[in-house]
Amino acid sequence: MKFKRDVSLAKHSTMRLGGPAAYLVEVTKREQVAEAVSFADDNNLPVVMIGNGSNIIWSDGGFRGVVIVCKIKYYDEFKENDFNSYVTVGSGENWDSVVARTTKSGLSGIEAMSLIPGTVGATPIQNVGAYGQEIADTLVSVEAYDRQSKSFVSIPKIDCRFGYRTSRFKNEDKHRFFITGITMHLTRSTMVRPFYQALEDYVKTNNILEYSPETIRNAVMAIRRSKMPDPAEVANSGSFFSNPIVSAAEFKTIQTKFPGVVAWDVGEGKYKLAAGWLIEQAGYRGVYDPETGMATWGKQAMVLVNQKAKSTRDLLIFKQKIIDEVSKKMGVNLVPEPEYIGG
Ligand SMILES: Cc1cc2nc3c(=O)[nH]c(=O)nc-3n(C[C@H](O)[C@H](O)[C@H](O)COP(=O)(O)OP(=O)(O)OC[C@H]3O[C@@H](n4cnc5c(N)ncnc54)[C@H](O)[C@@H]3O)c2cc1C
Repeated sequence: MKFKRDVSLAKHSTMRLGGPAAYLVEVTKREQVAEAVSFADDNNLPVVMIGNGSNIIWSDGGFRGVVIVCKIKYYDEFKENDFNSYVTVGSGENWDSVVARTTKSGLSGIEAMSLIPGTVGATPIQNVGAYGQEIADTLVSVEAYDRQSKSFVSIPKIDCRFGYRTSRFKNEDKHRFFITGITMHLTRSTMVRPFYQALEDYVKTNNILEYSPETIRNAVMAIRRSKMPDPAEVANSGSFFSNPIVSAAEFKTIQTKFPGVVAWDVGEGKYKLAAGWLIEQAGYRGVYDPETGMATWGKQAMVLVNQKAKSTRDLLIFKQKIIDEVSKKMGVNLVPEPEYIGG
């Protein structure tokens, strides 16, 4: 294992901004995670584990500790019978390559989450999801190094405390568990209609009548490519804001003022508002801000893109302009989805 000094973190964020890491180390085996943590502890340094940086905004000051980049790779399928399979994957595997592999084997459960950038190990952190599926639907357990007990643990799904784009790993146990692998339960089946609206519209428009995992994967990839910028070409962190969840009373107030509000009834008297729609109404769709060099994506306003920003400070200024405008016009508070890491 090689601990590199003063490494630019801009290369470890798809937004391509941020200062240096005091130390950065890549781990390919799970035992190395324990070693890297010991190094940080022995030197009294903070430590974080990351994947591809698709959901991280680094501060301009960088990270004055140890950044562990996860590269642990393996893929095993246990075929219980003709219907059920348990797929165990290393946390450093590229998520979309895993989706490609499972769908090719005819396995259903994660096909609608095609093209989500990043690694397998990050998927439980914010319970990644798209087009009607989320990792919590198929996850069986998470393998991790627990920094508190200094031991490797297996955490069953029920103990992950998943919610909409959240889990214990994002809240009360933030940066406590360094995930080394996950197990998913997938089935040789097909998704059942009605699908998530955009997917439903796509299959209808394109007269798709067969819903095999590969067909759905291809449909989702086509939808995503038409809406989202590819982080390899345009610096961005995907949806920059979570869709706000509001009470029925708050929803009614907004709907009275804005009858066209895009929202979904998520049960228990709550509504999820489309952040993209709110930002668009605030006049921020496809807008380039010369002061900061930041912009919003023309096809999806909730995606912030770094066109010419010089620093994370520029991004933070631009983000705040959007938050303030949405709050002023619609009375809704937008909360960023990517994690801001500094210190
Ligand atoms: C264009 C684009 C589209 C996107 N679309 C979606 C979408 O549809 N749905 C969705 O849910 N997300 C989406 N995202 C967000 C992002 O892809 C996911 O959050 C993804 O899981 C991040 O993976 P990563 O490896 O890049 O994680 P990173 O950004 O490196 O890390 C994210 C967080 O997870 C932690 N972490 C990462 N790996 C580990 C590990 N092994 N152990 C412990 N902690 C770890 C980090 O410390 C950090 O807190 C999108 C992002 C982009 C850029």
